[in-house]
Amino acid sequence: MSRKRPAKPSRQDSTHISWGIEQLARADGKVWHEVLRPTILDTVQAPAKTNENIHQLDLSIQDMVTEYRRHRLPVEVISMGHWSVHQRNAVAFASCLVGHRAERLMQIGDLAANALICLEAGAVLPAAASARSALELSAMCHYLQRKLSGVWGRVHGDGEQIRQEVLGADMNLWKTLTRVRVGSDIIDSGVPEEWPRPVHVNDALRTIKKGGGLLAQETSATYARLCDAVHPSQGAQGAMWRLSEEGQQGPHRLLLHPKKSQTTSKVDIVAAVNISSQLVAEFARFLWWVAVDVSLAFRFKNVALNRSLGLPIGGALGAPCVCASGFSFRLCTHPRPSH
Ligand SMILES: [Zn+2]
Repeated sequence: MSRKRPAKPSRQDSTHISWGIEQLARADGKVWHEVLRPTILDTVQAPAKTNENIHQLDLSIQDMVTEYRRHRLPVEVISMGHWSVHQRNAVAFASCLVGHRAERLMQIGDLAANALICLEAGAVLPAAASARSALELSAMCHYLQRKLSGVWGRVHGDGEQIRQEVLGADMNLWKTLTRVRVGSDIIDSGVPEEWPRPVHVNDALRTIKKGGGLLAQETSATYARLCDAVHPSQGAQGAMWRLSEEGQQGPHRLLLHPKKSQTTSKVDIVAAVNISSQLVAEFARFLWWVAVDVSLAFRFKNVALNRSLGLPIGGALGAPCVCASGFSFRLCTHPRPSH
């Protein structure tokens, strides 16, 4: 009997590994806002913005799915943390960015898909739990983007400064990346004194709040209501009932009808999927933009390891630039991706 070598992971494998992205892209050709509209509008009191939110849903999802498919995903990642930061180098840093980009797109993709599938099936409680988690993850994305964005605005396109940021003695970028990825007290207990503590999701949500505007208002309110909706109190209970026609007179009666409950949590679930899909797509574009800068500053080569790590690698002068600006590599200034 001949022994076969295990198959090497290929590009094909890595672009088709996300369950959530596959679900969100709907194999049946239907669009989410049409499928969900009847159930979303069947609430006790849908807010005025509901129609707009439902309509936005497919655009937000499409943005995330497109971003997921835009670049080759990493087959592997270099694992770095406070324990190995003395071995830091540019490839490890870029790998951390590109790996984090893939993780967050897939995690939020899975959660968003689960939220919408459960909502379609009439299981509001698990839908709300998934939507709330997606919102928390995307808040962490936004937090990291805000932190890195200030630094990168200053060093973008300047090879010397980029090299200094990535390899310099203060290790600020490494610490920031570690903070948002190390989330538990158990791991925290092993972190050296001079390293910052993990970021709590409430800090991340406050960062969105500080930014002000519609996003801040909508995110805070949606998050607060989804927290209520998944707590074993009024909220979770509300997901099980709808108003009874007969109950309008006499004692107030509700029908036990989880698949057709009239909870307004359904509106919040759609809003949370909208917000988190948009934030993660924006974050993914930002991380790739930084990774391109690092790749060009350190002149990453087209070698097997870099390909396996899914790093951006500069191509032929006439080819489209790896930063996805649409310009040819020769002419590209790698502009910051728009929102
Ligand atoms: Zn470019």
